[in-house]
Amino acid sequence: KISYYNGEFKRDDEISVDYNDRAFYFGDGVYEVVRVYDNEFFTLEEHMDRLVRSASEIEINGLEQEKLIEIITQLKERNSIENGSIYIQVSRGIDPRNHAYPAGAEPVVLAYMNALSRPSLQMENGVGIITANDYRWLKCHVKSLNLLANVMEKERAVRAGAHETVLHRDGVVTEGSSTNVFIVSEGVLRTHPANHLILNGITRQEVLKIAQEREIEYQEKPFTIDELKAADEVFITSTTQEVTPVSNVDGERIADGSKGKITQVIQEGFNQKIHKLNLV
Ligand code: PMP
Repeated sequence: KISYYNGEFKRDDEISVDYNDRAFYFGDGVYEVVRVYDNEFFTLEEHMDRLVRSASEIEINGLEQEKLIEIITQLKERNSIENGSIYIQVSRGIDPRNHAYPAGAEPVVLAYMNALSRPSLQMENGVGIITANDYRWLKCHVKSLNLLANVMEKERAVRAGAHETVLHRDGVVTEGSSTNVFIVSEGVLRTHPANHLILNGITRQEVLKIAQEREIEYQEKPFTIDELKAADEVFITSTTQEVTPVSNVDGERIADGSKGKITQVIQEGFNQKIHKLNLV
């Protein structure tokens, strides 16, 4: 496999990462995960826009989007993986450990590609989730490398035999440890507004577009844990999980536990967007 680090494409086993990369010491950087379906990028521009925006939010300025796109395009071409995901991260730079920003350090890009198939089984059968307190910082709109709270809360789900941990602030649901959360009640689709308390998922935005296209009423309005548990339908979204139905929350079943009607319509809309990639 060919990966990229700090200006060079190399075989995985030939890459050595600089231990003074601030990604290690401070998680001082940002990242993206982009999906490739049948050799085509899905929502590439949206991901690259968000990467540059996340970087500028933490004062990593001057990234050139075309160069980042060039790196991952090369990566896709050098690895013969038809269906996969590309991880790309940008750190503030390489310098001996010191909290303050290093003067004159150049941002460092790391990128690799993995094979990945669609999560078909869970998209049909749904998953269980648990809930937990959201104690993260107040810049959750930045796709930061600092994921300690997300990692610890995902692990809590794994230990509980669940798939994801959905976070709440004082009973108000924000998002999952690596997903956005939607509910349907009385025919209305609802998700947390895109503010500093959540990452504005690219999949989330695609779902809202599908809702609009298919005339499903939706609201970007917070909901509580009680509303989550009482919902007619619940699903979570992300680049890798796509649109995954939730069958139970904290061991309590959602409706009859099977995939909901609106969830199904959204999934169909999403499939259509993926298939369109190869028709243009
Ligand atoms: N929220 C968080 C905290 C995430 O880590 C992710 C996945 N990166 C998402 C939401 C979903 O975002 P996207 O649809 O862009 O993958």
